[in-house]
Amino acid sequence: MYVSLVYKSLSVKVFFIAFCLLLSLALQAQPILPNYQVFWGKTINGWLVIRRWQDPADTTQIVYLGLNPVTFRTRPLRGLPVQPLSPMAWHTATAATPYGLALAAERFRSTPLQDAGLQRADTNLRGFSLTIDLCPSRKPLDRTFFDRLIAAFDSAERPIPVAISLTGLWLNTHPADVVYLKQLQYKRKLAITWVNHTYHHAYKPAAPLTQNFILTPGTNPTQEALLAEQAMLARNLMPSPFFRFPGLVSDAAVFNQILSLGLLPMGSDAWLAKGQRPQSGSWVLIHANGNEPAGLADFFALIQSKSTQIRNRQYLLYPLEQGLP
Ligand SMILES: [Zn+2]
Repeated sequence: MYVSLVYKSLSVKVFFIAFCLLLSLALQAQPILPNYQVFWGKTINGWLVIRRWQDPADTTQIVYLGLNPVTFRTRPLRGLPVQPLSPMAWHTATAATPYGLALAAERFRSTPLQDAGLQRADTNLRGFSLTIDLCPSRKPLDRTFFDRLIAAFDSAERPIPVAISLTGLWLNTHPADVVYLKQLQYKRKLAITWVNHTYHHAYKPAAPLTQNFILTPGTNPTQEALLAEQAMLARNLMPSPFFRFPGLVSDAAVFNQILSLGLLPMGSDAWLAKGQRPQSGSWVLIHANGNEPAGLADFFALIQSKSTQIRNRQYLLYPLEQGLP
């Protein structure tokens, strides 16, 4: 009787572990869009092309991800003639554009371990750019934060420009929050730049930074970036060319790998929860995934202190691309 009870409890445990394993495998998306790959090209009307894939609804149709090198906007291109280019020819074609200049400036921003990438725009801007990271989290999106943000800036800016860094795992586990954010965009409350924050966003609290986040042994940075793009596209969210390293951690090799995908690593000179104060043109970093209330409190204290200037449009939020080098 005792043996059978132990056996039963063990088999329940084994079943539970197997179930969790299967669930986590199901959450780890395989390639989401058929034959999604890096592709360099351009169209006759000035779009750069950075990716291609097969339309899941009709795999005979090729879809391209177009990038406007002046506005930094992206969109899927269907039925347009696309001229393939070698990586060298593609870089030559982009070199004089705002996007090409930002890519060139990034090459000088490979710092060891932490906070590589551009981190601040034009220092003459009266205000800053707000970047909000949605790392994997069991907690719901902090919608109160967005309500307060809109209430604070609605009279000065409509839509309000914000950058939101997305991970594939957060997207998988927060479908209702994704709809909520898309509605804010649709209602023109927010103008959202969707930033690539990798698919899995590996993190081990006890591991040293040299073996943590994207540097976790076994992590494939290229795959992480491309999977996150697919997770966005599958939900009709357009991935911008901006990329944020999880934990702002990288090394030179990984940094160059991300650059070689045509992505622009985005550091931050003002991670509010770490006590860094924003300056003119800063790329301010906060988390609205329920895990960093201190950063949000600091943000609203700052906004409160600037409320008169905000009302008079003398202190604003700016899109990332504004004031880039
Ligand atoms: Zn993160």
